[in-house]
Amino acid sequence: MTAENTAYSALATLLGDRFTRAQSERDLHGQSESHFATMAPDAVVYPETTAEVSQIAKICSAAGLPLIGWGAGTSLEGHALAPRGGVTVDFNRMNKVLEIAPEDMVASVQPGITREALNTELRATGLFFPVDPGANASLGGMTSTRASGTTAVRYGTMRSNILALEVVLADGRIIRTGTRAPKSSTGYDLTALFVGAEGTLGLITELTVKLHGQPEAIRAAVCAFDDIDGAVNAVIATIQSGIPMARIEFVDRASAAYFNKATQAGWPDAPHLMLEFHGSEQGVAEQADRFSEIATEFGGQGFRWAAKTEDRNALWAMRHNAYRTALQAYPGHTPITTDICVPISRLAEAVEETAAEIEASGIPGPIVGHVGDGNFHALLLPLAGDAAAWETAQKLAANMAERALRLGGTVSGEHGIGMGKVKYMAQEHGEGWAVMGAIKAALDPDGIMNPGKLLPGN
Ligand SMILES: Cc1cc2nc3c(=O)[nH]c(=O)nc-3n(C[C@H](O)[C@H](O)[C@H](O)COP(=O)(O)OP(=O)(O)OC[C@H]3O[C@@H](n4cnc5c(N)ncnc54)[C@H](O)[C@@H]3O)c2cc1C
Repeated sequence: MTAENTAYSALATLLGDRFTRAQSERDLHGQSESHFATMAPDAVVYPETTAEVSQIAKICSAAGLPLIGWGAGTSLEGHALAPRGGVTVDFNRMNKVLEIAPEDMVASVQPGITREALNTELRATGLFFPVDPGANASLGGMTSTRASGTTAVRYGTMRSNILALEVVLADGRIIRTGTRAPKSSTGYDLTALFVGAEGTLGLITELTVKLHGQPEAIRAAVCAFDDIDGAVNAVIATIQSGIPMARIEFVDRASAAYFNKATQAGWPDAPHLMLEFHGSEQGVAEQADRFSEIATEFGGQGFRWAAKTEDRNALWAMRHNAYRTALQAYPGHTPITTDICVPISRLAEAVEETAAEIEASGIPGPIVGHVGDGNFHALLLPLAGDAAAWETAQKLAANMAERALRLGGTVSGEHGIGMGKVKYMAQEHGEGWAVMGAIKAALDPDGIMNPGKLLPGN
């Protein structure tokens, strides 16, 4: 019996029908939301406890089998694919809320819970978990990609909303990092190390997250601008003026047109900002007034306000569906997602240069972004099978990455590296990338944790 077959047989004994090598399950876990080809694992497991995850790691480690974590599979850079086969650990059955401690404003959860499910459980507490990547991702996946989204401008990213973790290492050891205390000064920050590690250092089996009070009042709005310049400069002035925006999202003219087509939104043919204000009734009114003044100065007009929950939900559902409505507008085109983030003072240059270059290329490339954070995405859509268009789109993406670095930013604000952006890591991190490789070698000497992603020579 080969080492692999010995491992499969041990996994079957441990997990029964929660271990599978069925082709359909493997294929399902070999696909992503983005342009990557299918790269299926050799087996899929569905653990229910940390002890099982530890046993799985020990079995795979003994056989040198790759171990790939799987949350909701919504990552965009091929993060959860299995380019070297191995065993995908699907956390879908580890999806419980373990404890809600309203007095400490924290919750402990298993990694497979989705952000929507967590917020449903929190509804009666007056608290909520704010990080919102649009997709209904799992908390384990969001932690591993250091996700953020529309609300990060106010509430922070996964980096600032995780207090503690339980992690299973490649050799099966179980460690706990962090505590419920709001801060700590006890050595290396191992929690931060695993947030954004993309499953290359260990498998997260429990998380303690910060919760926030549900705001007394919420108001959302959209407004149109004559051009990108006006919209982006209004954002810069708003952030610099200190208005505590809960969301401030840029939507370009093309994306506004897709929204209109998908939902009869009736937006003018123009770039837009989508906004949300959180606070007391009076605070929200003041924030909205101050924002309106700034926006008007930069040409903002046609404000439409949404105070009712259902109107706000419809507005943000439209924003969250931007990716899919753009794909629907271009059937037969292949999506290449981009995700650069720059200091707020360089945002206008970054967006304008990007928009001009995309327009000149002839490749469809709608732009949306969490611009309050200096973060935006162009969805490049070359026609499938058109090699020249594919090359052009790749060049546009590379130029965006180069632009982000030139302007003092990063090649990924929130999607992460996976397989798609490894090519930019040396340029962004220099010798720091080799240090990441050394940490990886110390924790996972045989390189079984999510190989082929993020790291040098991995
Ligand atoms: C339409 C759309 C919109 C999106 N918008 C945003 C956005 O605004 N902001 C944003 O940040 N992202 C966005 N994303 C990307 C995606 O939702 C995030 O990357 C999300 O964090 C992935 O979570 P997931 O549960 O789907 O993880 P998966 O895709 O399943 O996995 C992601 C990575 O985490 C690892 N992993 C999963 N679970 C564990 C675990 N328990 N332990 C260790 N490693 C694990 C995987 O191996 C993989 O490397 C969007 C995606 C889509 C499709």
